[in-house]
Amino acid sequence: MASIFIKSFIGLHHSSTASDNHSTTAVVTKTSVLARRCVKASKSSPRVAGRNLKVAVVGGGPAGGSAAETLAKGGVETILFERKLDNCKPCGGAIPLCMVGEFDLPLDIIDRRVTKMKMISPSNVEVEIGRTLKPHEYIGMVRREALDSYLRDSAAAAGATIVNGLFLKMDLPEEKNAPYVLHYTDYNSKSGGPGKMKTVEVDAVIGADGANSRVAKCIGAGDYAYAMAFQERIKIPSSKMKYYDDLAEVYVGDDVSPDFYGWVFPKCDHVAVGTGTVTHKADIKKLQRATRIRAQDKIQGGKIIRVEAHPVPEHPRPRRVSQRVALVGDAAGYVTKCSGEGIYFAAKSGRMCAEAIVEGSSNGKRMIDESDLRVYLKKWDRTYWATYKVLDVLQKVFYRSNPAREAFVEMCGDEYVQKMTLESYLYKTVSTGNPLDDFKLAVRTIGSLVRANALGKEISTIN
Ligand SMILES: Cc1cc2nc3c(=O)[nH]c(=O)nc-3n(C[C@H](O)[C@H](O)[C@H](O)COP(=O)(O)OP(=O)(O)OC[C@H]3O[C@@H](n4cnc5c(N)ncnc54)[C@H](O)[C@@H]3O)c2cc1C
Repeated sequence: MASIFIKSFIGLHHSSTASDNHSTTAVVTKTSVLARRCVKASKSSPRVAGRNLKVAVVGGGPAGGSAAETLAKGGVETILFERKLDNCKPCGGAIPLCMVGEFDLPLDIIDRRVTKMKMISPSNVEVEIGRTLKPHEYIGMVRREALDSYLRDSAAAAGATIVNGLFLKMDLPEEKNAPYVLHYTDYNSKSGGPGKMKTVEVDAVIGADGANSRVAKCIGAGDYAYAMAFQERIKIPSSKMKYYDDLAEVYVGDDVSPDFYGWVFPKCDHVAVGTGTVTHKADIKKLQRATRIRAQDKIQGGKIIRVEAHPVPEHPRPRRVSQRVALVGDAAGYVTKCSGEGIYFAAKSGRMCAEAIVEGSSNGKRMIDESDLRVYLKKWDRTYWATYKVLDVLQKVFYRSNPAREAFVEMCGDEYVQKMTLESYLYKTVSTGNPLDDFKLAVRTIGSLVRANALGKEISTIN
């Protein structure tokens, strides 16, 4: 049980397909990606005469950028709509190593390579995670403005048309195979101004427009519970920045968040300090202050250069596919509990959905239908369902009280826990554990929790 917990902490699953496999260097060559996207015609849906299948991707974050690149490479006529091409998505920007290889990320967009992650308990006990990392391994820290524009540029280089436009609504087709009509404000105009209202007809739509997805509303996808995350980018003196050179911090405790954690993540010339909560949204600024106070020795003298906040979905929407429309990334609700990780899952779901369209349309030659998009859903759920469930349980067990958080941080000191956790996070695969170590770990986990419970009871007696 404990082994399952630990292997799953932050990100686990059995690697799904050969195409998802990666070595420790996690390099997937462009050639192999291209080869994978050349699929053979196998379907009897109608051909799209005299043109290729036309798909709109709404949203140019990691989900939209990677979806558009895959579609364009697969022979689908692709239009990506992004309302703000210099968007700085509020985000901690921590990405797993496998993402660098799987998405061909150039190393110069990785601001920092974190090899030490400090977990800090409610009573300020510090445990450093990272000693099991191999020399080339790290957690990547990116600024989203850099990552997102790289992914969009890759989509454009593959042949996608990027439209600087705000998607407003769409008319759903009344007949089988009729087009979707998208209404949008086009900001591409050289003269600037408020933009021009336009429409475009497409065969299918990928909603990659984040947590407040309009595409989701258009298809009646239903709502999800969400957390509110708050972050300040703080420029600290370079003497202080040295401490964060290759180190990130995670603070747990009722003061910083009753149900999540506070963080200090290093970026190129500043740190991102933030926290999140589902249950106490109205207190978010108070929680943020507490996070800043906990880190104050290390960030003193810093200047806040940006304040940002954004909702973070807690679970998938009730409906993620409807006819020829699919949701991916945050629009679908693919952020893991406990770790709050969503960038990799957004990029991965965008790619997986686009691959299903490329395959279902025989490289853009045929019309698709809902069954093609369900291929993506099925594959996604098969690959990641357990990850989301286990992280949900982990969050409930370890973030429920300060004593449980103390136990959690204590467990993070265990070398075996660190190895399994980091490997699962960095590579999104299950590392093969050692049964004896798994057993010892189970005993230690129970021990930590029992101690935490006893401590909790004692504290409440004193109170
Ligand atoms: C404060 C905070 C910290 C986080 N830290 C981390 C972290 O460290 N690591 C991690 O993995 N995840 C983190 N996450 C989660 C992560 O940011 C998201 O899961 C991820 O951004 C989802 O990507 P996406 O492409 O689905 O959506 P988004 O990144 O939200 O992209 C959606 C895009 O669509 C565009 N758009 C929206 N509406 C429209 C419209 N109507 N028309 C045109 N364009 C539109 C937006 O401008 C945006 O560019 C954090 C989230 C928050 C809020």
